[in-house]
Amino acid sequence: MGKGTSNGTFTNYHANGKLPEVACAPGSVSLTDPWKQPGANYPYTPGLLAKDDVNKLSHIIPLKNSARATPNAGSRPDELLGEFEYELFKLQQPHDTGLSEEKRQLALSVTRRFFDKCKANFLGFPGVVALSYSHLADFLDVEINNVGDPFTTGSSLTQAKFMERGVLDYFAALWKAEWPHDVRTQKADNSSDKQLVTALENPSSYWGFITTMGCTEGNIYGLWSGRHYLSGEIMLEDGHLAGEYSSDCHANGHHSNGGLSNGHAKSGSYYVNGDHDQERATLEKLSGTVLRSPTKESKTPICFYSSDSHYSIRKAMVLLKIKTFHKVATKLNFPPPKGFRSWPKEVPSNEDGSINVHSLAVLVEEFAKRGYPALICFNSGTTFKGAYDDVEKAADLLLPIFNRHNLLNRSFYYTDAKGEVREVKRHGFWVHVDGALGACHMPFLKMAHKQGMLELEPDTTIPNFDFSLRGKKTEHYDYSGIEVVNSIATSGHKWIGCPFPSGVYMTKTKYQMMPREKPSYILTMDTTLAGSRSGLASVFTWDYLARTSFNDLMEKSVHCHNLATALAAKLRVLNDRVERGELHPNLSPPSLWVSRSPLSLAVLFRRPNKTIMHNYILSEEEEFRDGESRKLSHVYTMAHVTLEQIDRLIHDLSQDGAFDL
Ligand SMILES: *Cc1c(COP(=O)(O)O)cnc(C)c1O
Repeated sequence: MGKGTSNGTFTNYHANGKLPEVACAPGSVSLTDPWKQPGANYPYTPGLLAKDDVNKLSHIIPLKNSARATPNAGSRPDELLGEFEYELFKLQQPHDTGLSEEKRQLALSVTRRFFDKCKANFLGFPGVVALSYSHLADFLDVEINNVGDPFTTGSSLTQAKFMERGVLDYFAALWKAEWPHDVRTQKADNSSDKQLVTALENPSSYWGFITTMGCTEGNIYGLWSGRHYLSGEIMLEDGHLAGEYSSDCHANGHHSNGGLSNGHAKSGSYYVNGDHDQERATLEKLSGTVLRSPTKESKTPICFYSSDSHYSIRKAMVLLKIKTFHKVATKLNFPPPKGFRSWPKEVPSNEDGSINVHSLAVLVEEFAKRGYPALICFNSGTTFKGAYDDVEKAADLLLPIFNRHNLLNRSFYYTDAKGEVREVKRHGFWVHVDGALGACHMPFLKMAHKQGMLELEPDTTIPNFDFSLRGKKTEHYDYSGIEVVNSIATSGHKWIGCPFPSGVYMTKTKYQMMPREKPSYILTMDTTLAGSRSGLASVFTWDYLARTSFNDLMEKSVHCHNLATALAAKLRVLNDRVERGELHPNLSPPSLWVSRSPLSLAVLFRRPNKTIMHNYILSEEEEFRDGESRKLSHVYTMAHVTLEQIDRLIHDLSQDGAFDL
């Protein structure tokens, strides 16, 4: 490699052995330099320079045009570094000694100051920026990798699965699943594959893992599991039923000779896979009924999610090739359902952002009556409006539909390793809850309410989304034994406040997919999505939950909730002045469009001007209401937000020019 000097000139060997001189100045690029200089459109990321830094910078880095680069040390965190930025953070400057210490320190201090600025006014996203984890600095000097299943140690010992399990138990309790996890499923680390699966003692115990991405990973895993379950693939529990499983089924997730036959159960009438006449004959003998061929529909899960759902759900559809109701209905030319002129792309939402449960029921029934199983994704806290889907009400409407169309109790058959035909009963639906923010916040708000720490309007109910949800007994049928929720995902870096992306995925042991393999390399079953998994996420989340009491967390929830109430009230006062023409008289229409969904931590209002957007790090979304386009922003009143910040924002919003005309 090249030899370098500390002033930034270096020599670099050409492939042909020539030694060109390359100066470390913007614009001078060696043809052999793989790191080309950026073009004029090199995208900036925000940075912040103080006057001092500008001086140091021009001293350390030769600048093309230092006269132009005079960003001030103003109050906006988005002050761009202009030409400085690229130079300041560029690592590929030709030298072989790393960045000079002076430059490195400068870059770090600028970055730190940038984050300080951000923290001072971070109002627009559901993340927490006031954190304290520096006491965990020791844990940064070891690679902590929770690779593989959380409930087996495996061969990689530098892991913190013991902490992960503590966190998972905590969430299982919070979401009212049975805990601890039935470890028999994962058993001893050194057992052979055959011994791995032993009798399952408690199929209703939870199972889950801490994600390495955020809630996105949990959503993908939940929808993957739902697809797997509904399309008749083998689940871990089926392996237990069989006592052991063949290596075939182990390797490809299907049983050998065609895999599971698929069926539905209006009791006594079963479907089996038409390709397997022999299997069918056996089954006919077994059940004493005439068997019909399975329909393609019964093996095709159809996904339903609201138009307010997070983009990770749409991403999962593409990634997992899951069919949405819109896609199938338009492809097969189904006539639009009652009350719809055409097929909506996604399940319509109410104005407050929650899913319209009546539309959902109508859409689901169109598919249930054709024999399709339903994969349904609800929100506990939508991304923009922070709305809570009424999962309970939806279940009240959906369970009778599933019952009418024989989707409560379907039978699947497969041949086990001993050649015996086995029957597995499954629901024809899977409910996943995307609770990125709400699945952490809502349980504590509910607890606080029960303890009298929180006053709510008398008609407000705190919606339930957790594993305790069951159907109800009606005049016609008793649904009270039916579990509604199959999987829940949340983010660790939103409400909890982990300093890096993380999350929790949770389901029940009986809804675990049969892992595709148990790589000898890691000696644990490959039951998660990632390979290597963040062990730090376990350490940090464990630490946070260990030093924070339920009481602290209830207070935190109440604090956030009350701040949202206060902010909404203050914005409405401002809005009244606008409507009376006292404030922002040229605004058309004269309204700030203030709104807050029930119990939401997001308060929406008309998008302010760019400066305010930047100062408070606000996001925007466009909504069409009454034929007009509305550009909206929101504030998320997360735990770090103070009343002073809110008052400052209100002040800024009442100044002339706060809103673009
Ligand atoms: C933030 C969010 C997600 C994605 O979570 P990440 O942790 O960013 O992956 C998913 N769903 C909802 C409702 C969200 O608000």
